[in-house]
Amino acid sequence: VRDTVIGVACAEHEQAVVQEFFELFKTPWELWQPDTAYAVLIVSGKSAPRPLDAELSIVFGARAQQVDGALGLDATPSHDVPAVELRGFDVPIYGDCARFSANGSRSTGAPTGGEIVVELTAGRLSTIRCGYDLFSEVEFLLTTGQPAENAHIATLDIHIDLLRTWILEAGIPLVEVPPAPAGADFLVCLTHDIDFLDIKREGLDRTVLGFLYRALIGSFVELAAGRSSWSRVARNWKAAAALPFVHLGLARDPWSPFEHYLAAEGDDLRSTFFVIPFRDRVGMHVTSPVASRRSVRYDIDDVGEWARRLVELGFEVAVHGIDSWCSEAQGREELGRISAITGSEEIGVRMHWLCYEEAAPARLEAAGYAYDSSSGYNDAVGFKAGTSQAFRPLGAMRLLELPLHIQDTALFFPKRLHLSEDEAAVRCQAILRSVEKQGGVLTILWHERSLAPERQWGEFYGRLLETLRGRSTWFGTAGDIVRWFRRRRALTLGEPAFDGRSVLVPVHDSHDGSTEGPTPCIRVHLPGIGNGRREHIDVPYTGGETMTIDLGRERVA
Ligand SMILES: [Zn+2]
Repeated sequence: VRDTVIGVACAEHEQAVVQEFFELFKTPWELWQPDTAYAVLIVSGKSAPRPLDAELSIVFGARAQQVDGALGLDATPSHDVPAVELRGFDVPIYGDCARFSANGSRSTGAPTGGEIVVELTAGRLSTIRCGYDLFSEVEFLLTTGQPAENAHIATLDIHIDLLRTWILEAGIPLVEVPPAPAGADFLVCLTHDIDFLDIKREGLDRTVLGFLYRALIGSFVELAAGRSSWSRVARNWKAAAALPFVHLGLARDPWSPFEHYLAAEGDDLRSTFFVIPFRDRVGMHVTSPVASRRSVRYDIDDVGEWARRLVELGFEVAVHGIDSWCSEAQGREELGRISAITGSEEIGVRMHWLCYEEAAPARLEAAGYAYDSSSGYNDAVGFKAGTSQAFRPLGAMRLLELPLHIQDTALFFPKRLHLSEDEAAVRCQAILRSVEKQGGVLTILWHERSLAPERQWGEFYGRLLETLRGRSTWFGTAGDIVRWFRRRRALTLGEPAFDGRSVLVPVHDSHDGSTEGPTPCIRVHLPGIGNGRREHIDVPYTGGETMTIDLGRERVA
């Protein structure tokens, strides 16, 4: 019997999704093979093998299956089930569902009727029948992504957590490479999209008219609504009054993104600046009625010196793409503009306005990008792909997607969420708690002029950074963090051998790049002992083909 390895019996067309799902779970598994005994069997997209003789069998699927009869269940198709409550989580369901009821042949452990997940035990063997298709759900999350109303739910991370919980509840230990480095609960990535460079460059266009309106009149409206203070109003008025002097070269430009962020992030933090490669380009295939506003009045040529200085200081300069998402040729040009200045070999991209389509990741990869960070919301904050982990989009071979979670303009703009700072803090805390629990990276976008009048979102940003500095976390540029996830992906754990006092874990390490950056670790989860307690032990992985991990006072039978 293979005590601790998961066997996955799935349909052939699901294999790519299954593969990526286990890159995120990062626990030993293999595709199910006949005549092999598994501790855990996961069935999806095909009929369950008979008999179900794993210690724990989890059978997914919205359609009735042969095995349902043997389990004493009748399945009824049920469309438009918004969510299922499981182990204290509200798990949104995007595909079809089945509800189960007892067919009368079984008296114990049978559902009372209408459950979407049924847990049955017979002697040592447990079976969980789930009336949804896990891997279709995962595919939906990694491609289409969640609607904004579910943004706050890390659905994909919860699917992983549920599997882990079920396995441990069945008394089966687990090993994983958790999605955070040794000694940290999660990673933090600070990013800045540079859409504007300075106010002087804008002349008297609608951006500046908007600035004047919001500084002079909007400030009062916000003050009256209790969302601002007199000192902020005064700062905005002062900035508006200084505008003619800025144009005459007699006053400092109020928008100075690089100086402002260098000061705000102090000596210890290093962020990523996404810089526009070509000025005055609206870009192709942008269907918005206000598409003409997408063109930007500066480009990398205007900030060459700054870009080189930032790279020297350990910050990252990456591409704020115009057309890379829809044209490989343009993608190469846009990438070339930035790499010519920074000299960097691994360059990432975030699309201006977060333009995206399903074919974009493969196109970005073909153009030469190492990562993309456009998977996020313009009008919400949270988990579009349902995860805080960097993942490989389906269709890409190497490119990783660094999901974007919190964007300043989504929180505060009147036509977006339009939150007060207190409300925004509550939303950010909820996202932070999820990332802290599940691991992964929290990616934050604060725009170029958000620290300056008339936005003045700098105090909020400062408080957010203080909160994060107080947690057990590791800050890195987008490039650093993507490299760390690649490091983790290069590790494959083999079948662990428990001897009661320790566990021996085979490790295959295919990483051939630099080992700079924080160390991954190997985590041993021991099933609840007695009172449902869950324990885990983390040991940094420092190399080698096996790891022997002492279980200390814990014992595994
Ligand atoms: Zn932008």
